[in-house]
Amino acid sequence: MAESQYLVTARKYRPQVFEDLVAQPHVVQTLINALKLGRLAHAYLFTGPRGVGKTTAARILAKAINCMEKSDSEVEPCLNCDSCKDFETQRSLNIFEIDAASNNRVEDIRELRENVRVPPQGGRRKVYIIDEVHMLTTAAFNALLKTLEEPPPHVLFVFATTEPHKVLPTILSRCQRFDFRRIPTKDIVVHLSKICKSEGVEADDDALHLIANKGDGALRDALSVFDQAVALCGSNLKYSTLASALRVVDVELYFEATQYIAQRAAGPMLSLTDRIMSDGHDVREFFSGLAEHVRNLLITVTLGTDALIDVSKRLRVRYVEAAKEFTETVLLRVLMVIDETQSRLPTSTSHRLAVELAMIKMVRLGDSVDLSDALAQIRRLERMVRQTPVQRPVTATAMPPPTQNTPPPRHTPP
Ligand SMILES: [Zn+2]
Repeated sequence: MAESQYLVTARKYRPQVFEDLVAQPHVVQTLINALKLGRLAHAYLFTGPRGVGKTTAARILAKAINCMEKSDSEVEPCLNCDSCKDFETQRSLNIFEIDAASNNRVEDIRELRENVRVPPQGGRRKVYIIDEVHMLTTAAFNALLKTLEEPPPHVLFVFATTEPHKVLPTILSRCQRFDFRRIPTKDIVVHLSKICKSEGVEADDDALHLIANKGDGALRDALSVFDQAVALCGSNLKYSTLASALRVVDVELYFEATQYIAQRAAGPMLSLTDRIMSDGHDVREFFSGLAEHVRNLLITVTLGTDALIDVSKRLRVRYVEAAKEFTETVLLRVLMVIDETQSRLPTSTSHRLAVELAMIKMVRLGDSVDLSDALAQIRRLERMVRQTPVQRPVTATAMPPPTQNTPPPRHTPP
């Protein structure tokens, strides 16, 4: 990563064209169609969790609208014309980015309304990208509404927000809304491996999954973890060193824990607990990781395949193997113990005790009778009783209960 001027990865690799936007095909396709047909709305609302590409998409759209080199049939901005370059160097007179978190007063919106009236200079449309639009005050929203009710034809607004429910309904109803989705781990992994290639970073598949998981659906967050990972481990990212550098509980420990549950091995489970505690891992983080791990096992058991688990190929094989030791019921119960412990931890006076109790409880789960098994047993017995012909007792003496193997006693008429 030899770079004279260090740029964080999220900025360096920020998508410049629609084609590079990660995992939002529904949004991209609709915007491309609108651009091709020249049927752009006056206001768009981009909603979704943080770090999934809302502002990036707004920027690409703004550039594409004002690009001077692209023909009407093209949709991607050229990135070379004056308009595209001016925007990149923050000198554009037609594209404005406003952070509503710090410009949320009614005066700010009034100023914007004045600005909106002036036609674009040299470009096609004036584009206002208003980030975190839910942060506007009610007065500011109302001022904005006036512009949205009768927008000048040369203006286009893109509002971005993580909290659409806080935007006034009258504003919402005047916008075309796009919901950006969380980015699946596998898509983040693909993106990360491309970046690794161009940065000359070696990383194993598990390490990339670890980074992607830390991002929790947000590409931007995953890319900051990537920067952190490279800063900590250099240009060779290996899962085990990365896990300890990032203070993440190694997935091997989770496999160990579930193995002890399967073997009902309380002793080893307690020494595992001791290791986790003395390594200084955050117990809440451990339990949420364990929940994710048990969920992966449960999904594998329930579906009979590894199709719905978001892990590396190597781990998929491990999950399929480990899942053979469990029934759905036991895994559901383990999840219940984890859930119970997670909600108790914040008020617990001794984390160690809470963790140890939970671990022993999980190991002992297999000892108790499975209710669904017991019910099935009862149903089997009921069926047997129903199928056996009813016998009227001959005398008052008790008859032996009929069983499947012994034929019913012969009835002798008096
Ligand atoms: Zn251009």
